[in-house]
Amino acid sequence: MAEYDYDVIFIGAGPGGYVGAIRAAQLGLKTACVESRETLGGTCLNVGCIPSKALLHGSEKFAEAADGTLARYGVELGKVELDLAVLQADKDEAVKGLTGGIEFLFKKNKVDWLKGQGSFKDAHTVEVAGKAYTAKEVVIATGSSVTPLPGVEVDNDPNNKNGGIIVDSTGALALAKVPAHMVVIGGGVIGLELGSVWRRLGARVTVVEFLDALLPGMDMDVRRDAAKIFRKQGMEIRLGTKVTGASVKGKKATLTLEPAKGGAAETLEADCVLVAIGRRPNVAGLNIEAIGLGLNARGQIETGHDFRTTVDGVRAIGDCIPGPMLAHKAEDEGIAVAEYIATGVGIVNHAVIPGVVYTNPEFAGVGLTEEQAKERGEIKVGKFPMMANSRAKTNHEPDGFVKVIADAKTDKVLGVWAIATVAGTMIAEAALAMEFGATSEDIAYTCHAHPTHSEAMKEAAMGVTGKAIHI
Ligand code: FAD
Ligand code: NAD
Repeated sequence: MAEYDYDVIFIGAGPGGYVGAIRAAQLGLKTACVESRETLGGTCLNVGCIPSKALLHGSEKFAEAADGTLARYGVELGKVELDLAVLQADKDEAVKGLTGGIEFLFKKNKVDWLKGQGSFKDAHTVEVAGKAYTAKEVVIATGSSVTPLPGVEVDNDPNNKNGGIIVDSTGALALAKVPAHMVVIGGGVIGLELGSVWRRLGARVTVVEFLDALLPGMDMDVRRDAAKIFRKQGMEIRLGTKVTGASVKGKKATLTLEPAKGGAAETLEADCVLVAIGRRPNVAGLNIEAIGLGLNARGQIETGHDFRTTVDGVRAIGDCIPGPMLAHKAEDEGIAVAEYIATGVGIVNHAVIPGVVYTNPEFAGVGLTEEQAKERGEIKVGKFPMMANSRAKTNHEPDGFVKVIADAKTDKVLGVWAIATVAGTMIAEAALAMEFGATSEDIAYTCHAHPTHSEAMKEAAMGVTGKAIHI
């Protein structure tokens, strides 16, 4: 009889856990994945990447029709009206299709889905729905959930006719009505993506951000332009401001704001408040105490390069460990941890993980920011405005730029940042170039199809040596 029920059990079926489980099974390991949600796919497929992108896509179509963008091309429309229920149904359909697809992939690859909340009995035993399952290796892939803001209590009640007054991202994805005034607390990725959705659908949107710039973690040029672009689109952006409390009366919330550096308080009324101040790892209920697993000061599980924790036989990946909380980072770690377990070798290059904000335009970057690169040594920078890119100009998409940061001596590309309608797609080229150790010259001498937005990448690379053509 086998010593264990499984070679490996993943706890959590988000992009980290489900991808890891499939790769482990592909490599011949007897694999199970524990998931307490009704559907597989984790935050990303159920209440994250996918539903938010469905609403971003649909709301962009509505805005193009409603704000006269289509009229510029001779598309004559009558009165443009929104049927929000239809848009929400389209989003639900996308989620249903993709989460069901993971269930199919589990069956195809013979991954057992253990339904329920998983908790450790010991390092090799996980209890699920009252039954104990053993495994040689257990991978914690429990992801993250919304960081609460003291004094601003979230109520996502979907049965509330208003769809909830104070919501988190999950609530903001399911509103049944366009709020007259939405206040977004936090000018990060979620605040700007979901704030954009509701602004496009007709809400007045105010973003309150604690720091002096939006999108922490991105290059400062990107962060500065982001505030200008969102303001131009009609969002009110309150930088250097913190929310200290909220009260709800009837269908209105009243928020108390203060300058982040201290000063006189003021109040702001809203029909809907979105709390989007970050996410924190899911570890409650795992019973990590039983296996003597500790957390760092940020509540994350620390691991080595092979995703081993301090407990023998227990590894961790995805949002519950340090690093950017991104689906593709979790997926790559899922593949790597399975390969480490099966073969002893796995690869994730944490220096080359792209990040994208899927607004219009999109904001994207990979590698070091200019500020970080400067701290490490001498650099050269090439920057090319989208206004000078023939395709963006033809499409009336003037906002943005591409910036290539290279080492001054070796010319090796250290970071690339882009604002463009398709920056999320363009940044893949930069990630691939950096993965292959490219110089800016390599990008500059790679033939790019004309007319494409990607030519701005080539021109920015040419700009590193001061030789861009079109500016
Ligand atoms: P998760 O996806 O959080 O999955 C963990 C799973 O584990 C969950 O399903 C949970 O139910 C389950 N679980 C937890 N504890 C237990 C337990 N004890 N027993 C059983 N099951 C358990 N990232 C991007 O890269 N691109 C995007 O466009 C993007 N958009 C986003 C939009 C929103 C609104 C949000 C909230 C997030 C978005 N993200 C995006 C982030 C992305 O969703 C996460 O980085 C990603 O889902 C992390 O994957 P994970 O596998 O680590 O964890
Ligand atoms: P975030 O960390 O991106 O932004 C949170 C923002 O809230 C920060 O700018 C912070 O300064 C601000 N803040 C914190 N406390 C505040 C306060 N009291 N008042 C005002 N502002 C305050 O977090 P998020 O937007 O909640 O997103 C969470 C995670 O989900 C991110 O790590 C992100 O990587 C991931 N995500 C990714 C995508 C994507 O890849 N497109 C989309 C959505 C979410």
